[in-house]
Amino acid sequence: MPSTEEQAQQLAEAFRGTDKIVIFTGAGISTESGIPDFRSPGGIWTKYKPVMYSEFLASEDARKRYWIYKKEGFADFAAATPNAGHKAIVELEKRGMLQALITQNIDGLHEAAGNSTPLIFELHGTERWVDCLECGRRYPRAEIQKWLEAGTEVPLCESCNGIMKPATISFGQHLPEDVLTNAVVNCESCDAFLVIGSSLQVQPAANLCAIAKDAGAWVGILNRDKTPYDALVDWRSSESAGAVLSAMIEFL
Ligand code: NAD
Repeated sequence: MPSTEEQAQQLAEAFRGTDKIVIFTGAGISTESGIPDFRSPGGIWTKYKPVMYSEFLASEDARKRYWIYKKEGFADFAAATPNAGHKAIVELEKRGMLQALITQNIDGLHEAAGNSTPLIFELHGTERWVDCLECGRRYPRAEIQKWLEAGTEVPLCESCNGIMKPATISFGQHLPEDVLTNAVVNCESCDAFLVIGSSLQVQPAANLCAIAKDAGAWVGILNRDKTPYDALVDWRSSESAGAVLSAMIEFL
């Protein structure tokens, strides 16, 4: 098994000389910032059953359950700051090597680290805002947290009394068409595609690495646990994302 340093060298080798790198991130890049992922032991889905979008719309009880885990998870999001992995991706952009940054994360840490907004494709939306599903009024998520902590169980819009939901994509909700189309176009036109910290279990996002591979790109996976796509790719590492990515920058 190659050392962390050797794996970082291999990754730098794959990236060197191209300005068409597409990075695809999942919850695993943010665990080193203190935000738990969903499927590892202790993750949110080991404690709560996810609420489907249709249930959220149909049932007050489902909305109560949904806001309980949103309320509980907020402290981790609010306290988190970008880690070495996020910063390494900013460095790729500074060096003119990053074509696109596709993320399943809703924590906003890529933007906070300094990646440019037009390069970031947030497939699953963002936790930084809460939208009224009736009139579209948008509230900062931190403001809604204050309501929840003051005892509100299901926040309703101050303008129209409509149901509100964080600007994230729930299970059973369609991904934003334009964001997904742009992500696919980038996968089809990149030289190198790297998955970082995703179990690659949520479709259609997980299949983007197969699209990049079919289009002829070098494809790598940097993820602690196995994924269903491991056999398909050119490079694979189970090391800590932050350690490999920061060392990789040194070898570029
Ligand atoms: P996941 O929880 O299914 O998988 C995360 C993967 O990251 C795991 O396979 C784990 O082995 C790996 N991992 C964890 N820490 C790592 C580290 N330090 N280095 C390398 N690998 C590490 O996550 P997913 O595939 O992104 O799917 C979860 C869904 O939940 C996403 O759609 C996302 O929207 C959402 N989510 C987002 C956040 C966030 O925004 N930070 C957090 C939890 C969940």
